[in-house]
Amino acid sequence: MAEITYKNKINRIRSFALGLIFLGFGIMYVGILFRKIEWLMLIFIILGTLAIVFSTVVYFWIGLLSTRAVQIICPTCEKPTKMLGRVDACMHCKQPLTLDKDLEGKEFDESYNSKKKKDQKSR
Ligand SMILES: [Zn+2]
Repeated sequence: MAEITYKNKINRIRSFALGLIFLGFGIMYVGILFRKIEWLMLIFIILGTLAIVFSTVVYFWIGLLSTRAVQIICPTCEKPTKMLGRVDACMHCKQPLTLDKDLEGKEFDESYNSKKKKDQKSR
């Protein structure tokens, strides 16, 4: 069975926001390449600005999420980490963690966050 490297949710959203900033600057840079066509350059610059504004919103959202996240000490690397939902991965060592005793030792599955699993997956 292939090992899935699972990333901590807050870290994942953070890297998404960082990616958006780079995307925004990338779009603006493309706009500058089209500086001879004024309207096209304007569209790219507006799109780039929107991407950067959106990433700011995402960063703000991470801030809100962090306040709601549960802070625990990872049993594997013994560093403090924040987790969202019933299952999440450690921010430092990517150790899958759960708040639910019933899920302990079970195969890691992100679907535990949304709803109860209907049937047990066969290995
Ligand atoms: Zn850890």
